[in-house]
Amino acid sequence: MIPPRAPAAAALLVLAPLALPLLGWKPISPARKWFPEDLPVDFRVSEEEEESLDLSGEWTTANLVDRSFQNWEDVPCSDMRAEYAGTNANDNEGFDGDSNTEVKINDLGNDLSSGVLAATVTYYSNGDSVTYNGADYRRITSFDIVFNDGVNFGTPDEIYSPNCEGESSFEAVATHEIGHGIGLGHSCESDEACTNPTLRGAVMYWSIGGCETDREVPNADDVAGLNAMYGVYTDFDVVVPEGMTEGEARTGKVPLTVEFSVPDDVAATAVAYEWNFGDGSTPSTGRDVQHVYEAEGQFTVTLTVTGNSQDCGEYVDSSREVGLVLACEAPTPSFSAVNLGDGKVRFDNTSRQGAYGCTLDYRWDFGDGDDVATFEPVHTYAEPGTYAVSLVAMGPGGEARYDADVVVTVAADPEDGEGAGCHVTGGSAAGGGLVVLLALARPRRRPR
Ligand SMILES: [Zn+2]
Repeated sequence: MIPPRAPAAAALLVLAPLALPLLGWKPISPARKWFPEDLPVDFRVSEEEEESLDLSGEWTTANLVDRSFQNWEDVPCSDMRAEYAGTNANDNEGFDGDSNTEVKINDLGNDLSSGVLAATVTYYSNGDSVTYNGADYRRITSFDIVFNDGVNFGTPDEIYSPNCEGESSFEAVATHEIGHGIGLGHSCESDEACTNPTLRGAVMYWSIGGCETDREVPNADDVAGLNAMYGVYTDFDVVVPEGMTEGEARTGKVPLTVEFSVPDDVAATAVAYEWNFGDGSTPSTGRDVQHVYEAEGQFTVTLTVTGNSQDCGEYVDSSREVGLVLACEAPTPSFSAVNLGDGKVRFDNTSRQGAYGCTLDYRWDFGDGDDVATFEPVHTYAEPGTYAVSLVAMGPGGEARYDADVVVTVAADPEDGEGAGCHVTGGSAAGGGLVVLLALARPRRRPR
């Protein structure tokens, strides 16, 4: 949203300031951007004309909007691209949230209050996220910009003329709103101390003055924001062997070999690579690398690229995937059992848990024909007796089974203190060749 520069407009802010006043630019909150594969932004422009604009000569509303997009496209070292997709023939009204990115003139839907020059609503998908230069972003799917009615807008010619009188630059306002549409927040908010001339001169400053000619071209602060969101972008891929999913390729039993590679667009300007595999091993260099994870754990992989490109010059950029690799030991299931009385038995799961994600599922077979897939079940047996109970633990490290005989009684075990019940009378674990003697977690039941 962009109000005119006037104290009365201060209440119209819709974006809360983040706690980064010195950095200036910031993403809108929650952070969101256009994903590289969704570019260029195809935008449409309302058929309505803005009455206050004197659209003689070369100017039309559409090419003014196009020129405003161009102001962002022209920023060096940025992948931001947009394309005019024609007029929105049947749809000139307000923030409709359809899948079209549209610029609408004269606020036919009456969405804006007075004092607001224009406003943007950005639609995004909460389900999709991308980590870009160390920050997480949702995926922008489209945005609507609405210009307010009754504002005295001027064309660039009028704004730049010596006779400009109280007009607001249509191009500057459009560029500001498009900035929101591609994910930029305000360089400075009205309730921040905005004394820094770079922030005050930014296209993404929170307000705009009449006849200010310097606001349609992104300045250093705007450029820094755009480059952080659309500039040099280091990325890497997990190499997925045939017949596997990407998730399967980076998850499994130790020793786990994972292969990584760098996509062509990153490699095009890369000069050197440094891979950190997150497990304390020595970093690797090279575009395509493989690493063997020997220990169990979740590992963050970081690629740092040193590069040189025409647009950006020399750069160093990192891409980091948190918890990307999950390497697991084989599961080690075990349990103990407590009689609760009347054939009811509580099973305590004493399996080794290992790293987060390494044991995903459990399956209990109670030995009486019933089974269940919960972590710690309570099961009621119809008859007292001895039952062969098995617990299977399954996860990325494989599958393992633990067997034990459980003596089910009518009377409840004492819960605490000496003689607390454990009716597991014998057992073995099998899986991955592993067979262990039963280790009791509780003392045996006192003989009756
Ligand atoms: Zn704004």
